[in-house]
Amino acid sequence: MRTAIVTGAARGIGLATTKLFLAGGWRVMMIDRDAPALMDAAQGLEHARPIICDVSIPEQVNAMAAEVSASFGQVDALVNNAGVADFRPLQDTDLATWREVMATNLDGVFLTSQAVIPHLKAARGAIVNIASISGLRASTLRVAYGTSKAAVIHLTRQQAAELGEWGVRANCVAPGPVDTKLALAVHSPEIRAAYHDAIPLNRYGTEREIAEVIVFLCSDKASYVTGQVIAADGGFDAVGVGLP
Ligand code: NAD
Repeated sequence: MRTAIVTGAARGIGLATTKLFLAGGWRVMMIDRDAPALMDAAQGLEHARPIICDVSIPEQVNAMAAEVSASFGQVDALVNNAGVADFRPLQDTDLATWREVMATNLDGVFLTSQAVIPHLKAARGAIVNIASISGLRASTLRVAYGTSKAAVIHLTRQQAAELGEWGVRANCVAPGPVDTKLALAVHSPEIRAAYHDAIPLNRYGTEREIAEVIVFLCSDKASYVTGQVIAADGGFDAVGVGLP
């Protein structure tokens, strides 16, 4: 049985990804810092193991990796999905907010990957990092969020370059808007309307549609795909209409 680690697994895209892995016969280590939500989410999921961990805190990430190692040794896939959003322009973004966004969205990917890489090498496994279309395209808002996601895209390419020698692949999924708790907190009615107009498919994506791309990239079907960014965004990036 293959093992995947999914961060931010308590809800949203992470939970949908967990369920899709489980349906495909994988075992999943569900990582999240929201303990009650994580325990709730893992309830009744066979072959899923919840581990409470804040991916921005090195000690917690190392403890998580040690637990995974003691339980399973091998890790076939790491999905760095945990993320937070803040939609503000540069002039209104204070340093504490900037650091908070970077701590989860960028440091979290760095720390978790570093801790899990030895297991991925042993398994010739795969990394999928979750960025965003906000990391591909600039806007008048999202200075911290967009910058963190652009950095995740580059970090993915670094991982592909460094780890290819061990047969480890690293790819990035850049989702368009999906109705999750994260999006509901930052998408104003104006932003929602703009997305509907700017996306050729004229709708938000679903958690499952993003999960399908993530699981594909972790599978053997993507065995010659590495260092790529796949925008699962209804065509938003391809068309290039501006957003507020
Ligand atoms: P969500 O808020 O529903 O879920 C995010 C999960 O991550 C939560 O369970 C939360 O507790 C967890 N989390 C946050 N910070 C953490 C930390 N430091 N350590 C451990 N867990 C942490 O959000 P979502 O929409 O499912 O987002 C998942 C990913 O997809 C994020 O990286 C997000 O940036 C990205 N994304 C989302 C959208 C969207 O429109 N929803 C669009 C593009 C990209």
